[in-house]
Amino acid sequence: MTGKLPLSPAFAALNRAASERILILDGAMGTQIQQLGLDEDDYTGHASGHVCRHHTDHPQKGNNDLLILTQPEAVEDIHYRYAMAGADIVETNTFSSTTIAQADYALENAVHDLNVEGARIVRRALDRATAKDGRPRWVAGALGPTNRTASISPDVNNPGYRAVTFDDLRQAYLQQANGLIEGGADILLIETIFDTLNAKAAIFACMQAMETHGQRLPLMISGTITDASGRTLSGQTPTAFWHSVRHAQPWTVGLNCALGAEAMRPHLAELSGVADTLICAYPNAGLPNAFGQYDEGPDDTARQIAGFARDGLVNVVGGCCGTTPEHISAIAEAVAEFSPRKVPEYA
Ligand SMILES: [Zn+2]
Repeated sequence: MTGKLPLSPAFAALNRAASERILILDGAMGTQIQQLGLDEDDYTGHASGHVCRHHTDHPQKGNNDLLILTQPEAVEDIHYRYAMAGADIVETNTFSSTTIAQADYALENAVHDLNVEGARIVRRALDRATAKDGRPRWVAGALGPTNRTASISPDVNNPGYRAVTFDDLRQAYLQQANGLIEGGADILLIETIFDTLNAKAAIFACMQAMETHGQRLPLMISGTITDASGRTLSGQTPTAFWHSVRHAQPWTVGLNCALGAEAMRPHLAELSGVADTLICAYPNAGLPNAFGQYDEGPDDTARQIAGFARDGLVNVVGGCCGTTPEHISAIAEAVAEFSPRKVPEYA
């Protein structure tokens, strides 16, 4: 359905850059936001004067996406630090900016603004970085998995029950994708996929949004392996996952979150062996400790990701939970000497 659309200008530039080197994606937002030590008034904007115009009485502490509207300078500063740490591609802070995820905070009405502004803030941060060093950088509009799954029942006594339908998801993602493109996203990144059916709704919505805007944007699709058998929550191996999303002709396919680089490696190698497109990996900073925190340092993470690069497994690398600008800078330095993976040609 997007096959006839002209490629966006950023698409060609990204292809050129990816043919020359391993590209760098940014790291975690959550860790950086946590360090700001924000309270309820900071989240709602009452402390900064950027009060969200979408009124709700629901508590907002923990609604990190809302900071796009209520703490725009702080969010822009985090994006800027990742850009200056070496990120070529920086993600919007919109992981939960769908009506489905924002329903938890009674802020469904804010979703359009979150996505448009979320993309604009990254663009501003990247333009500032580029003004300093002349390097081009791209905005990846991030679409998270939502907190509901379309293929598994959350009720053990009612296996046929679903908390969300494919069409609910498609509509929510369509609104998100339209907002991200309107705000200037160069790429659409569907990430942390634990349920491939949710991801398929997101893919369909992204394609619809591209049709509306008359351009084909690069699509990045990133699954997450959640158990020791090497499967997604909805039960797919990396190979099965690839064949489920291949029709979308994604610019990259890959893995993020759940595992550190070490544990991700065999699953990434499997995906790299079957996917005839670019491969992207952004693991967590190791596995969480007993307090749910990540304590793998920048050099450790970078050394393991350099191993992915040395073995020709990757085209784009970055960090997920627990990673910081220091991790991204160490990763960028560690992979610089290696060539990007060659995309295999299959019939
Ligand atoms: Zn993560």
